[in-house]
Amino acid sequence: MAAGHNSMMASAMPELVDAAEGLGVFDAGERCGLGVHTLVARTAHEAIHQFNGIIGPELSQHTLQVGPGRHISGTRIIGYLSHSCDPNCRLDMDRFELVTLRDTPAGDALTIDYAVTEDVLYRQFACHCGAANCRRWIIGRAEPMSAEGRAWLAEEGL
Ligand SMILES: [Zn+2]
Repeated sequence: MAAGHNSMMASAMPELVDAAEGLGVFDAGERCGLGVHTLVARTAHEAIHQFNGIIGPELSQHTLQVGPGRHISGTRIIGYLSHSCDPNCRLDMDRFELVTLRDTPAGDALTIDYAVTEDVLYRQFACHCGAANCRRWIIGRAEPMSAEGRAWLAEEGL
């Protein structure tokens, strides 16, 4: 069984560790799914991972958009990055690099803002990232909020 979502991610068993790159993919529990952690401290604006995969027209849960109508799948690491509205990383889709946005200590989850690259999300979702600027319901940059999202925000009184 997967660990509860309130268990410490850093103590979870890694699904995959890339020691050379200092990255690990961890199971963060049923609610959060897999996530990526840095195993070493990072400085801001560091290209910490070069990714590759298969580029095609299909959008799925672990693809990322590299250009209009083009999505990369089969990546080892970046398909498991968690979303944050105040992320510590970004994806450079020209250089195919994962780049830090700020200093990040060892053990921290690496996050990106999904709306920066994705026109349409595989699935819109409620966000609990805790950032002061959290948008609460996450959608792609070129799609309307779903009825589910509007209902959820209304229920939350937002
Ligand atoms: Zn958020």
